[in-house]
Amino acid sequence: MNLLSTPSSRADELRDRLQRVRERIAAAGRPADAAEPHLIVVTKYFPASDVEILAGLGVRDVGENKDQEAAAKAAELSPLSLSWHFIGQLQSNKAKSVVRYATSVHSVDRLSLVTALGKAMAAEQRRLDGEGRAPRPDLNCFLQVDLRTAPARDADPGRGGAAPADLPRLAEAVARTPGLALSGLMAVAPLGGDAGEAFAHLRKLSEQLQADHPSARNISAGMSSDLEAAAAHGATHLRIGSDVLGPRPHVR
Ligand SMILES: *Cc1c(COP(=O)(O)O)cnc(C)c1O
Repeated sequence: MNLLSTPSSRADELRDRLQRVRERIAAAGRPADAAEPHLIVVTKYFPASDVEILAGLGVRDVGENKDQEAAAKAAELSPLSLSWHFIGQLQSNKAKSVVRYATSVHSVDRLSLVTALGKAMAAEQRRLDGEGRAPRPDLNCFLQVDLRTAPARDADPGRGGAAPADLPRLAEAVARTPGLALSGLMAVAPLGGDAGEAFAHLRKLSEQLQADHPSARNISAGMSSDLEAAAAHGATHLRIGSDVLGPRPHVR
């Protein structure tokens, strides 16, 4: 055994970091009627061995933003029965792959993607049926909202997220597609803006959505730097990467 770097050091680091994040979540203020938000640990760029350590620490929900990487980790760790959340921009031609492992997609932002996910779910159910296996649960869909206002949004349109005005049409499409369940809304606080303001806006949009779709009450918001602001505005799902895993390697 190498006494200079013990094999348990990464496990110790992850345990301590996870513990601190869990304490922050428990201490964060939240609306009077809100339950403590769920923690999704974003494991992108980190190896399956880290995910395995986290699973041993009680983590059940993990987030990934690239299909190839997520599919490989999910396959390797399939005995752990984790819940995989797809949180990155998703090309329609990846839908078929994503529905094989993901329980949720947080980045549904256009009608063509809703169509692709619906088709992929139908094909997946046929595949499972053909193999004599039980059907999978509906895919939980969060509509990703672009919270930037007009000038910034127009200058850089390719970042993912639907304009607030497009949400009713998207919600309707998800709600009427077999195999898809409308879960709620997702957003990233705009860079350089006030996260509290952004999440307050998101909560308003969520209330509007729930007027037409009462069960779509989830709000996926909050990352390492702004989880307290998200919790304060009623986030139900926090997506936390670097404060649990450490700084990401800056490749890719
Ligand atoms: C990477 C990522 C996160 C996690 O960000 P951290 O700042 O590392 O906590 C959350 N949401 C999305 C959409 C991401 O891509």
